[in-house]
Amino acid sequence: MYWADELAASVEGPQVVNDSKTPSGTVHVGSLRGPVILDVITRALRDRGLPTTLLYGVDDMDPMDAQALLTPDSIEHEMGRPLAHVPDQAGDCHASYARHHAQTFIDVFAGLGIHPDRYYWMSDIYPTGEVDPFLRTALDRAQVVRDVYRRVSKVERPEGWLPVQAVCPVCGKVGTTIALDWDGETVRVECRPDYVTWARGCGFVGRISPFGGNAKLYWNLEWAAQWSLFGVTIEPCGKDLATAGGSRDRADAIAREIFDREPPRNLAYEFLNIGGRKMSTSKGRGASAQRMAEVLPPEPLRLLFLRPRPNQAIEFDPEGTDAIPRLFDELDKLAAAVAGRPYRGELPPDPERLFGYVQLADAPAAEVATAYRPAFGHLALLAQIPGVEIAVRVAEEKGSPLTPREERTLAERLAAARAWLDAYAPESAVVRVRRDAIPAEAVALGEDQRVFLGGLALAAGKEDPRGGDAWQTLLFRVAGDAALPAGRAFGAVYLAFLGRPNGPRAGWLLASLESSFVIARLRAAAGWHDHADEEAGA
Ligand SMILES: [Zn+2]
Repeated sequence: MYWADELAASVEGPQVVNDSKTPSGTVHVGSLRGPVILDVITRALRDRGLPTTLLYGVDDMDPMDAQALLTPDSIEHEMGRPLAHVPDQAGDCHASYARHHAQTFIDVFAGLGIHPDRYYWMSDIYPTGEVDPFLRTALDRAQVVRDVYRRVSKVERPEGWLPVQAVCPVCGKVGTTIALDWDGETVRVECRPDYVTWARGCGFVGRISPFGGNAKLYWNLEWAAQWSLFGVTIEPCGKDLATAGGSRDRADAIAREIFDREPPRNLAYEFLNIGGRKMSTSKGRGASAQRMAEVLPPEPLRLLFLRPRPNQAIEFDPEGTDAIPRLFDELDKLAAAVAGRPYRGELPPDPERLFGYVQLADAPAAEVATAYRPAFGHLALLAQIPGVEIAVRVAEEKGSPLTPREERTLAERLAAARAWLDAYAPESAVVRVRRDAIPAEAVALGEDQRVFLGGLALAAGKEDPRGGDAWQTLLFRVAGDAALPAGRAFGAVYLAFLGRPNGPRAGWLLASLESSFVIARLRAAAGWHDHADEEAGA
């Protein structure tokens, strides 16, 4: 059984699925694993007929602690302030730093078919007073909180430490304050210059009410409070939080011992690792969630996360590799298996269910599986040859006109192939006609291949083929006349024009070049030196 269906089969009654994120900077594509998992769990629960609510939250009252992401003149003022109160450094009209990064991330969800029933922002929730009862309980039971930290995580909090962080009424920082001496209505707040190394407090000392947005719960408590506030029953989390004695264990214990509630079902998931290299951010490369969603259509991007079980790490390195083409090939293999067409290689477990979850919720999976899918690698080659009418070509290969769905798929894939070639593809995938001189690699041509190329030059000179089809037909005929296998014939053309043993459809490659150049190059590659000097002028 698919893992999400297993989870859904093990629960009863209405469910609330939740996740939240601290918007501390640009969100890496791996961070989409959680939301995709959330979406699939929600779909599995709803398929079982369980009423299910999907929530997604932004923990934007957490303090700004990443100096590198601020402009130099704003560091002193902004470090330690709630992310929701830091101005948008990108200056593109978001209300805050938190809104900029969280919204950029969340904007990717809809395209991926992830539609939470509600988004909540902690900076909106605290001022409503909804968290006040939890603040009060946590303050009343501060000793129990300290005991939980000590017992579960071996973290020692000083005597008198309270589990809330006040927003300094003078400098607005939350990361620099310590709250002490809860009297049932107010706490004593000290905004200490040296409380943390990464931000400077202003020195304020005074008593404030912690309610109505004046203070926030420390993160583990805020997490547990969210579960109570929203009635969360299932919340997956990244494995970094799920370690023994880690954040999740603390939040679970706090839910039970402070807020008197069973914590939600957990499903710890592994990371997505991006190669060993740092992704470059120049040239539009990189692997932010936003960037990957621009390059990859929703199906392959969902497949990236859904193919392995949640407890398996994902290795993904789009830059300079064929990781992206392989993702499309994997998708096509799944589609073939689901549609009952032949395929090569092994299938992941439960391919039909996986294929269904890879589709957006409203897509008719069976119809999608039977649709014609031009191979990504083939499109990437076609896209590099000028003058090829790709839609016409693909319809010819299919053998009938493309359906509207197939046209959309083609457009998506072609855009992805172009983006891949532009920013990620390895050199070996880039086709370059070597116009200046015959490639040195052509020395590998066999005598049979040279004879074929000479014959092709003669035939082309006589018949003047126009268009890819005409060239393709001629190639096959001349190869047949020379009793040369098609693979060797095409390989000869690639070596002579591209300096490599493979390439796109040779007929269309030749049709995209002017015929005088083609014929001169064919003669030169055939070893007919009398016309070699034409190369220079070609
Ligand atoms: Zn202060």
